[in-house]
Parts: sequence; C-alpha cells; structure tokens
Amino acid sequence: MADVTRYDNFIDGQWVASNRYEPNINPSDLSDVIGDYAQADAGQVQAAIDAARRAFPAWSTFGIQARADALEQVGLEILARRDELGTLLAREEGKTLPEAIAEVVRAGNIFKFFAGECLRQAGETLPSVRPGVSVEITREPLGVVGLITPWNFPIAIPAWKIAPALAYGNCVVIKPAELVPGCVWAIAEIISRAGFPAGVFNLVMGHGKEVGEAIVGSRQVDAVSFTGSVGVGRGIAQACVARGTKVQLEMGGKNPQIVLDDADLDVAVELCTQSAFYSTGQRCTASSRIIVTDGIYDRFVAAMTARVGRIKVGSALAPGVDVGPVVSAAQLEQDLRYIALGKQEGARLACGGERASGATEGYYLAPTLFVDSTADMRISREEIFGPVANVVRVRDYEAALAMANDTEFGLSAGICTTSLKYANHFKRHAQAGMVMVNLPTAGVDYHVPFGGRKGSSYGPREQGRYAQEFYTTVKTTYIG
Ligand code: NAD
Repeated sequence: MADVTRYDNFIDGQWVASNRYEPNINPSDLSDVIGDYAQADAGQVQAAIDAARRAFPAWSTFGIQARADALEQVGLEILARRDELGTLLAREEGKTLPEAIAEVVRAGNIFKFFAGECLRQAGETLPSVRPGVSVEITREPLGVVGLITPWNFPIAIPAWKIAPALAYGNCVVIKPAELVPGCVWAIAEIISRAGFPAGVFNLVMGHGKEVGEAIVGSRQVDAVSFTGSVGVGRGIAQACVARGTKVQLEMGGKNPQIVLDDADLDVAVELCTQSAFYSTGQRCTASSRIIVTDGIYDRFVAAMTARVGRIKVGSALAPGVDVGPVVSAAQLEQDLRYIALGKQEGARLACGGERASGATEGYYLAPTLFVDSTADMRISREEIFGPVANVVRVRDYEAALAMANDTEFGLSAGICTTSLKYANHFKRHAQAGMVMVNLPTAGVDYHVPFGGRKGSSYGPREQGRYAQEFYTTVKTTYIG
C-alpha cells in the first residue's frame, strides 16, 4: 500500500504533529485516501488560542498596506492553483470538478475582495450636540475569533470567514469539518508563506465534540462564527450567549422554489434541476421544495421527471458527470431514510429513489424526485441535504407564497414567472434573506451580503462589506 501523507495542525507559525490522525477519504472512490489529517487535542487548541492572543496587539495595528498585500497574495495563489485545488476539493467532498474549480475561484476572489477592504475602512465624524465637541465613530477588531465550518463548501466558506476576520485585524483559530480538512490545510499552507506574523492564523483540525467545543468553550475567544446544522448551531449560540461572546450562525434551509403558470417551462425545469440536484443537493441554498401552480403543474412534472432522469451521476473527477456522490455514509443513510419516509407519507416517486452504481465504490445516489406531495409531509418541511426534491401542487400565487413562507427556515427563496407584478410582490414578501427571480435558489455572488432569516441564521450577515458588522466593534469617541 502506498504511503499516505500526514498533514499537521498549524499553530503559532509552526506545523505541529499530533498523537492522532484520521484518513480523509474520497466519497467517489472509497479506496482513495487523500491523506491522514492531524486531530488536535485540548492542549493544541489552547496553544492555538494563546498564540492568537499574543499575536493580536501587533496584528490589530499592523499597516493596512501590508495586511492588504498578504491577503492579496493568498487570493492570487488560490486563483493560480485553481485546477489543483479544485481537484483536491472534488476528491474530498464529491462535487464535480467544474463545480469545485468554480468554488476555488470564488475563494480566491474573496481574499482579493477583502484585501481591498483593508484599504476601505472608513469611520465617521459628526458634530456633537454640545458646542465645541466633535464625535468620531470608528471600527476596531474584536480580538481572537473562532471559526467553525461545514463540509459542503470546503474552501469557500472557510475563505469567507478567514478573509474578513484577518482584513479587519482579528486573529484566527479555525476548525474545518472533519470530513474535508484538505482545502483549509491548503489555505493554511498558503497563508504560512504570505507574510502574516506567527499566531495570526491557526489551524486546528478534528471533530466538533473535541476541537469545536474547546474553541467555543474558551473564555479567551472573543467571537465565534459558525456555519453548519441547526442543532449544533443552537448549542454554540447558548454557550456563547451565556458568557457574552459575540456569535454568528449560518444554518439550515428548506428553500422554496415557486413555479407559476406564466413561467417559461424550459427555464423553470432547468433552474429547478440546478437548485435541487447540482452539487448533489448538498447546498444550504438548494431547493428541495418545488411549489407549482395548477395550470402548469402536469406539464412541469412531466418535463422535470424527464430532465432529472437524464442527470448523469458518477465520480466527481470524471468528465461529463453532472452530479457526484453524497459526501459520506452517514449522509447517504439520512437521504435514504427520507426517501423511505416520502414513500410512507404517500408522495409519488417519479424518479430515482435508490443507490446508483459508479465505476468505483462510492456513495452514489440516484437523483430522486417526489411529486404530488403535500406541504405537511416531513419531506416538505425538513432539510434533507441530498439529491432529493419534491413537487407540491397549489391553486395560485397567493397559495404558493403562503406555502413558501410556511417554514421555520428563511435562507433563500425563488420564483419563476414572467409576471413583473408577481416577481415584485414576491421580492417584498418572501421571508428569506435572499430572493431569486428566474434564477436557481443556489448560486450567489461573493461581494454582497449572504445569510438568512428565522431558523436559518443568527447575527449579522456574512460576505461583502456587511461582513464588518460581525468582525468589528464600533467605538464612539468624543473630543472636547
Ligand atoms: P454540522 O453542524 O454537523 O457541523 C458543522 C461544523 O461544526 C463542523 O466543523 C463540526 O465538526 C462542528 N461541530 C459539530 N459539533 C460541534 C460542537 N458540539 N461544538 C462545536 N463544533 C461542532 O454541519 P455539517 O453536517 O458539517 O454541514 C451541513 C449543515 O450545514 C446543513 O444543515 C447546511 O444547511 C448547513 N450549511 C449552512 C450554510 C449557510 O450559510 N446557511 C452553508 C453551508 C452549510
């Protein structure tokens, strides 16, 4: 058997070996081990937090040009290595190579964007209500931020937390998802050569129970930014709020995609297919809830069933594949449980419903479409997070809007219509952080705010200039 490379944690500017390593396995080919990744213990997490604390005074007042140059260098190297890093991402997470390369490009552009933000940190000066006094409003970094990320965007989500954290002068301790440590390790390696002082950026890999809880439980961590599931997020929020630590959560979704009678049928089928099945349906902005009005329902279901049947499932790295494998055995089991539940609940299985085979042994699942389902079924209400979608028939736009909003989540919501009246009404009344008109619910820009409402998000938005709301604190100074 070929030797497997070991990848260490990065603490205080040094690569630090661990007592324990876990394999990172390719979900398209279970015989392919990408590497063995260090599992940090509590002592290493503490060492990373201590290093970040020591580095903070100098980094928070570091020259903005040097800070911008370092971030720019990270972004440019990520972009230059897009094919190599895209291959790593496709191998460890299972999205197809073109999707993976696009995610790497997004990550590179995020670092470049926040390099620019280093030079655009403006304050305000106002006259005071007291004669002879003026007021200055400025932003300052928070200190040490703990970043905890999920497996479904192994490079973009870490990038959209690391880059603003560093740009606004904070020091970072990051824990990537245990299923996909490779991409964040690659970012750490790039950062280690990009001119950041030791301790400004620290990587501790491992499981949530050990490493995640040690970060969240530390009094020396000033803020925590988390993306992941609702259950874990709520627990993190409780721990942070209990000791007054700033916290930001991006969590699940059950994003509605409405198709109205007046929609262009081909556009509707294509964007619903994109929303529901691409990236194996493993996007927090995916739509697994397609709400279709009566007049177009039968035509839509026939065309969508045919389209989903043509999706090519296979290895993430194979050319011509539309949809890669599910990320892990546990996620595959969850998807199959929901498929069984959908059948039990009385939804009609139009397509898929079983495991698919590939050229190698992997977690392949046939894209699964339920139709004639109802709004109260669990498959219509709960996040499945796989290539499983269902279609619900409604009377008209008003019923579609009510159903779209009848959820505990509120991340992304889409409508497919040629009516300006309905598009405008939906834009205003959809209870979601992001609204899509004639576009898939998934697929967002990197320079504008990202986030949701209700159970999907907690705290300020991520990305774009709005990221400063979380990564800085406001100071008001009175000058007499
Ligand atoms: P998860 O909650 O299982 O894990 C997320 C991260 O939290 C991982 O790094 C994990 O190790 C860590 N973690 C687990 N338990 C922890 C604990 N007790 N304390 C501290 N950290 C802990 O989520 P996942 O399965 O990796 O990701 C899928 C979920 O992420 C889905 O619900 C999806 O909707 C959500 N997601 C949301 C967004 C968004 O922006 N809204 C984006 C991507 C994914």
